[in-house]
Amino acid sequence: MFLFLSNFFQKKSIDCWAPLPLSACRIQKPYLLERAGIADGTAILIVVPYFTSACRDPQRNLSAYAVSKNYHAFFDELYGELLPILKARFPKNRFACFADHSPIAEVEAAARAGLGVIGDNHLLLTEKYSSYIFLGELITDAILPSMVHGVKGCEHCGACSAACPMKECGTCLSALTQKKGTLDAQEQAWIVKYGSVWGCDLCQESCPHTVRAQKEGTIFTPIPYFWENTLPHLTGAHLDAMSEEEFLSRAYSWRGRETIERNLAILKDYKKGEPTC
Ligand code: SF4
Ligand code: SF4
Repeated sequence: MFLFLSNFFQKKSIDCWAPLPLSACRIQKPYLLERAGIADGTAILIVVPYFTSACRDPQRNLSAYAVSKNYHAFFDELYGELLPILKARFPKNRFACFADHSPIAEVEAAARAGLGVIGDNHLLLTEKYSSYIFLGELITDAILPSMVHGVKGCEHCGACSAACPMKECGTCLSALTQKKGTLDAQEQAWIVKYGSVWGCDLCQESCPHTVRAQKEGTIFTPIPYFWENTLPHLTGAHLDAMSEEEFLSRAYSWRGRETIERNLAILKDYKKGEPTC
């Protein structure tokens, strides 16, 4: 099974993955494993990098992960192809795939599998791609060869904290741009000040692991899906021209058009201010 997975991931340009005994994972949502009928076995941690040259667009007003098409669709395609093959080849085993809604503490598990260290920004810092990755898991009751590493943290340099524009405010700009409904004057002023239609990457951009990956050019994803149809600078005109299908193919669609329209309207209608907490 290991060899098959190795070949499969290589064909999909996924070069950073590792198995970890399920017993070495912290289980957060046991019902997801119960539903899959898996009590013990192996979690295969899959690192999916997403950074492309479009993320370097100086006009980018979206978080880097939202520049490409929706990563959920990537995982759906990946798992949609992988699961039927695995079930046919290994009929005695059980398999379940996850992205986002995982039964295990995935950042911790990925670090334990040796795929990176845990940053003070709570993200997995990988050697090649820094934190510009999505994590997915294939969980099976099969026992695969694996190594359990000690969980390492980053060097605590403080750059992410220093770069955070909201550290005194007890909130996060990324969460704010995703909040539904009407924003108050202070919240609107923050969006205007930082010019973000969706998300915030400042605690990732400032990290020395990212700076090094940018400088050495390893940060770019080798996965073709994330290079297709990129849109780093979203405008009202783009949004108006998007069909419902196109809109749904974007990561920011999950909060509905109204949330994005509101943020764009705030950026158009408000002048830059210097908000204070
Ligand atoms: S995403 Fe932005 S606002 Fe949120 S913690 Fe990171 S730097 Fe701060
Ligand atoms: S910026 Fe420094 S403290 Fe923050 S995650 Fe990166 S290495 Fe750790």
